[in-house]
Amino acid sequence: MICPNCQSKDLGKIGVNQYYCWGCYIELSINKGMIYTHQVEEDGTLSSLDDLFDEEDRKLSM
Ligand SMILES: [Zn+2]
Repeated sequence: MICPNCQSKDLGKIGVNQYYCWGCYIELSINKGMIYTHQVEEDGTLSSLDDLFDEEDRKLSM
């Protein structure tokens, strides 16, 4: 699995189906074969980045 944002493979597992990208500092979560991307804002809230990617790019490829 690679980060759809920066193509980094340097992902750390932070929970069940949840990963953190050390390349671009976003959170990734996996659901039903799709990668969902979130940016952590300064106040700790998550904002979705999914609009930035095509569905093709967010499909989980093993
Ligand atoms: Zn990344």
